[in-house]
Amino acid sequence: AVEISKVNKFYGPFHALRDVDLSIPPGKVTCLIGPSGSGKSTLLRCVNFLEEYDSGEIRIDGQMIGYDRPGQKMSGRRLREMRRAIGMVFQQFNLWPHMTALENVAEGLIRVRALSRPEAESRARAALEKVGLGDKMGNHPSRLSGGQQQRVAIARAIAMEPRLMLFDEPTSALDPELVGEVLNVMKTLASEGMTMVVVTHEMGFAAHVADQVAFMEKGELVGVDSPDRILHQPQDPRIQAFLRTYH
Ligand code: ATP
Ligand code: MG
Repeated sequence: AVEISKVNKFYGPFHALRDVDLSIPPGKVTCLIGPSGSGKSTLLRCVNFLEEYDSGEIRIDGQMIGYDRPGQKMSGRRLREMRRAIGMVFQQFNLWPHMTALENVAEGLIRVRALSRPEAESRARAALEKVGLGDKMGNHPSRLSGGQQQRVAIARAIAMEPRLMLFDEPTSALDPELVGEVLNVMKTLASEGMTMVVVTHEMGFAAHVADQVAFMEKGELVGVDSPDRILHQPQDPRIQAFLRTYH
């Protein structure tokens, strides 16, 4: 579980996160929606401390990330240890162009987990099969579609056996016809009980897969509730106004 409490984040004078509170239950899917610039990516990146928050706390299974205690940064080594439990998938796939799909997935297992190459490759093969790429393991990224590249990126993350997966608009860079195959892989992960936080503009995914939907605007977490109550019967006029832009 992830407990975000009273988190504030500034970029210089700009107040990007304002007293954000959010509970992310284990084994559930939390979708984060809201207008551009509302702070969704910033919040997601604070969860693995890719972005430093300035006050408040983010706890992952009870342990604060980034700080040993408020104001006191944790060691790089300790942070890396905590990050091992967290997988992240970005809008851009960030694959190594000179490596095959298999090598892209195996590389982190060799470097970060210190597995032998055969062990790493066998785990990488299993992860690639899981995302439906059993027949593309030898392809370089330039020989894969966008949807396939993103599935390699997901395989790379799950091969590390994270307890938490963060997705930042994983389908936004894809042609529309490739979105479904990536969402389907995410649905499978969700059905297996992976704890997931997904920043998305895919309202269908949020409606059908999320256990809870959180809406952000101007750095504030305006509301969090079931998909039905946020997407179909929102009470807050800011959420109503945002959803109208999708119809
Ligand atoms: P989008 O839907 O467009 O991805 P978002 O909700 O993810 O938007 P963020 O990327 O979290 O929004 O940005 C929130 C605000 O913080 C924006 O106003 C943005 O301009 C600002 N911001 C983000 N990163 C930085 C940075 N490194 N330096 C200064 N300002 C930043
Ligand atoms: Mg963003």
